[in-house]
Amino acid sequence: MALIVQKYGGTSVGSVDRIRNVAQRVAKYKAQGHQVVVVVSAMSGETNRLIALAREMQPQPDPRELDVMVSTGEQVTIALLAMALKDLGLKARSYTGWQVPIVTDDAYTKARIEDINDEKIRADLDSGHVVVVAGFQGVDGDNNITTLGRGGSDTTGVALAAALKADECQIYTDVDGVYTTDPRIVPEARRLKTITFEEMLEMASLGSKVLQIRSVEFAGKYKVKLRVLSSFEEEGDGTLITFEEDDNMEQAIISGIAFNRDEAKITIIGVPDKPGIAYQILGPVADANIDVDMIVQNVGHENTTDFTFTVHRNDFSKAMDIVKKIANEIGAREVKGDDKIAKVSIVGVGMRSHVGIARNMFEALSKEGINIQMISTSEIKISVVVEDKYMELAVRILHQAFNLDKAA
Ligand code: ADP
Ligand code: ASP
Ligand code: MG
Repeated sequence: MALIVQKYGGTSVGSVDRIRNVAQRVAKYKAQGHQVVVVVSAMSGETNRLIALAREMQPQPDPRELDVMVSTGEQVTIALLAMALKDLGLKARSYTGWQVPIVTDDAYTKARIEDINDEKIRADLDSGHVVVVAGFQGVDGDNNITTLGRGGSDTTGVALAAALKADECQIYTDVDGVYTTDPRIVPEARRLKTITFEEMLEMASLGSKVLQIRSVEFAGKYKVKLRVLSSFEEEGDGTLITFEEDDNMEQAIISGIAFNRDEAKITIIGVPDKPGIAYQILGPVADANIDVDMIVQNVGHENTTDFTFTVHRNDFSKAMDIVKKIANEIGAREVKGDDKIAKVSIVGVGMRSHVGIARNMFEALSKEGINIQMISTSEIKISVVVEDKYMELAVRILHQAFNLDKAA
């Protein structure tokens, strides 16, 4: 007997029929003698619909009330799934985040899970119930409803698996695993049988929406056995996230390509080139709870330098306001913003032992006449910022250039 946490995404619970299918799969695992905890997302499109509705009321919705609202999507699907399970003759019980409770910090719309009380869930499992938990939501120390950021049901799933010391966490979605890149953009993309935890972490943080980054972080921290699978296929092993690089396997140099259209670029031109400037610019940005991603500071000349960084597009206008104010204070010449950018990244642990990868990447991009605006690297990834209209082309040509469509 194993304890399995299964998470089903929006498309997988997108209709009453699909929820019935999910119930069937859960029943199959129960029949094999396993204990099952199920985490569900809202029906596909529902979270977007709720956010749009809130924006009709307030262009910048009040974050506390927005969380009260968007968390309702998952409240619907837990109830429907519990009904479907009961129809199959199983004992089932649904829980919202606050009922568990899944305790988070108070950062509305991007809260972090701090603690999960597993008492009720364990008692239910011991009495033979399937436990159905709402993904994406929690409750802060003052009983306010919080949500975990878009795609957050993955994190609920993995965090529950960690708290319950589950044998496996299965993420069921509309693709049958993690691919070399998003198969919607590159139809030749291949499913990976395994991907290392480090690579998955990079892929997720660089924009691959198949897993929310925090879910991967949780999996790494608590060594949760994590697998991505299709809810539309009966069989299949999906993709296993591994914690050790398999020495026997011929490791591909590049495992995958990620891309992200969610960023915007801010450049401050003619910044006085003296100590403390980066801190003066980025301090207030961080104080406003805005995450900064790539940062480039040019070599100074004539006592000034240019400073460029990227933020999430949602934070763009807020960050521009802050930076314009600082630019004025520090005597910088000009602030420029650009939200028509995209970031394309190649990821692979094989990069550690190979040289010339960046060269190959830049060569492939230059052959297509794609201009690189910013570059950042780590041991296992290279990211470039390009004009967003070139994003898909860049992903496709890099997929080809690194032979990702061919089996490793
Ligand atoms: P869910 O609603 O089940 O959480 P998501 O839409 O969040 O599903 O994530 C699954 C989607 O992620 C796929 O449909 C696919 O388009 C996209 N995706 C992006 N990058 C990858 C990748 N490398 N491998 C597989 N899917 C990817
Ligand atoms: N329903 C939420 C969203 O659309 C959470 C999730 O699906 O993981 O972002
Ligand atoms: Mg998702």
